[in-house]
Amino acid sequence: AQHQSLTTHYARFNSDEQRHHQLHVSLVTDLRDAIENDQLELYHQPQIDLRTGSIHGSEVLARWTHPEYGQISPEVFVQMAEDVGIINNLTLWVMKRAFQQQAQLIRNGHCRRLSINISASDIYIPDLANRVVELAHRYHIPTNLISLELTESVMVEDYNWLKQLISALSASGIEVSIDDYGTGYSSLYFLSQLPFTELKIDRSFVRDLHKSGRHQSIVRATTDMARSLGVMVVAEGVETEEAEALLRRYGVDVSQGYYYSRPLPFQQYQAYVERMDSVQPTAILQEKSLR
Ligand code: C2E
Ligand code: MG
Ligand code: MG
Ligand code: MG
Repeated sequence: AQHQSLTTHYARFNSDEQRHHQLHVSLVTDLRDAIENDQLELYHQPQIDLRTGSIHGSEVLARWTHPEYGQISPEVFVQMAEDVGIINNLTLWVMKRAFQQQAQLIRNGHCRRLSINISASDIYIPDLANRVVELAHRYHIPTNLISLELTESVMVEDYNWLKQLISALSASGIEVSIDDYGTGYSSLYFLSQLPFTELKIDRSFVRDLHKSGRHQSIVRATTDMARSLGVMVVAEGVETEEAEALLRRYGVDVSQGYYYSRPLPFQQYQAYVERMDSVQPTAILQEKSLR
């Protein structure tokens, strides 16, 4: 049956505040249940190492198919989880499932990195760094194969706390990435003080890169800055060959976007990695043009 979209529902009930409220409350209950009963799914979007053309790793992205409303965007349910205070449960669930899947990849001989999105309030999960390390040990994952992506808006949170957390994670070998870089609040002061190891340039600068001289200047300068800070640069939202060519010229390390692959269910991601690992690195570039 065709799912009625959530937006349509909200629009219909918008005039009726009480029913709108009821819908919200029942969705929150459903989300809580979905987290508890393992009903969310993880998709993996491949990240490509621009130097070698091989798969560097993946970013895990949560997916929720509601029994009645169908696919609900993570922009919606992650925000909802943040608003009602269950984001920590969501994040810890994602982490556990992601490590299980990564362990399976490693067991099958495909050692790949994994990036996990962390929400602002997650930084206050008690003893977060140790919890990540313990979970990684439980699944026999080397910590240096893990990145946590902190969205740039996390920079408005308690600075000293953030610094301690990032230091603790780095000391354990876990990479810390600043996600959506360029859209939020990270000042040059923060960049100079926080020991993060990766900078992820927001897709709004990357998507139309070849058409915008301004975006080219920004991406090039950001890459230069990151390089001299000794920080890795990832570009997200790469959709065209032209964008990729520019990123490679600027010296961006890792590239992610629809040009290579949409986020994939784990089984499909695993098949993609297996296929890539079975061909020569030079053949990978050809494979891309066969898409
Ligand atoms: P994000 O962390 O910036 O993730 C990248 C988003 O860009 C993903 O959207 C991905 O599907 C999309 N994307 C990738 N390549 C392209 C491209 O070439 N073009 C375009 N237009 N888009 C591209 P998605 O999966 O809908 O997730 C949206 C946001 O929701 C994420 O943004 C992240 O902030 C949040 N999110 C998703 N999963 C989780 C999660 O498990 N935990 C938390 N805390 N947040 C999550
Ligand atoms: Mg991200
Ligand atoms: Mg994000
Ligand atoms: Mg992002």
